[in-house]
Amino acid sequence: AKKRAAADDAPTAESLGVRVSNPDRVIDPSTGATKVDVVNHYLHVARLMLPHLAGRPVSMVRAPTGITGPHVFQRHAETLKIAELKKLDPSILPGKPPMVEIDSFTALISAAQANVIEFHTWNSPSKAADKPDRMIFDIDPGEGVGWKQIQEAADITGKLLDELGLASFLKTSGGKGLHVVVPLTPKDRWERVKDVSEAIVAHLSRVFPDRFVLKSGPKNRIGRIFVDYLRNGFGATTAAAYSVRARPGLGVSVPCSWDELGSLTSGAHWTVATMPERLDEPGDPWRAYWTTRQTLAKAAKALGVG
Ligand code: ATP
Ligand code: MN
Ligand code: MN
Repeated sequence: AKKRAAADDAPTAESLGVRVSNPDRVIDPSTGATKVDVVNHYLHVARLMLPHLAGRPVSMVRAPTGITGPHVFQRHAETLKIAELKKLDPSILPGKPPMVEIDSFTALISAAQANVIEFHTWNSPSKAADKPDRMIFDIDPGEGVGWKQIQEAADITGKLLDELGLASFLKTSGGKGLHVVVPLTPKDRWERVKDVSEAIVAHLSRVFPDRFVLKSGPKNRIGRIFVDYLRNGFGATTAAAYSVRARPGLGVSVPCSWDELGSLTSGAHWTVATMPERLDEPGDPWRAYWTTRQTLAKAAKALGVG
């Protein structure tokens, strides 16, 4: 069977013209993982990750001295020395320096060389930045909410989306929780996508008030889950599929099939250290993601969003 991204056909930093400085610097003291471990991760996932990164604005979390040092969240080119980093049309975010995009192997690996650990992307393509081509639900454990409840919440969310005529795709966040991603044919503007996403969460909290809340306030939510739809606001970002997280253990955000949900142990089920095994598994659980064509029309109607 064909592997997902066999290491033997992955590019090398050299072949991309990127020289990796301080390869042996420990960036995660909890595991001893080094900078070159992160660079190698991005080399191995590049083929799978680039379709999720290219063509949309990206924000990056740099940790120049490792994950225990300062984290720098960067949305603009600024002083970053990243080869082939694409500057976007400034009109995407008027009055701000241009947003940036990563659309090549060299830019991705050059970013890792520049100590970028995390890549976060917008829900809209750079070329039609006013129309999201995906909707995201963020599901996190919290006070009084255990992992099993998170799995159940993700399952219910996926099934509701399905009933609303929307195929959805599951990934680990690489941190504490899960992300449910709904690919969209870009048609509706941000405001409407956010309104529909809010109506979906409102519906969950109405039908299952013991499980779900609509408001994010911590008091309100003890033992219950706020499925965060606020990732669907204009310019909001979410950790991209295959991004490493700058947290102890270096979790990775990994696309999964819905069938795998029950076997996941946390949002950091896979890490930089265990990704090679994951990549050896045959098939791509998100194969259908790229050919899904759907809009919010039916869901909006069913939910009474005008
Ligand atoms: P977890 O599952 O652990 O909650 P996550 O990826 O779902 O991980 P967080 O890491 O909690 O979410 O990040 C919260 C959101 O804020 C993300 O969507 C991220 O893109 C965004 N974000 C993170 N850091 C910054 C920052 N410094 N400025 C603006 N947005 C940020
Ligand atoms: Mn989350
Ligand atoms: Mn969170």
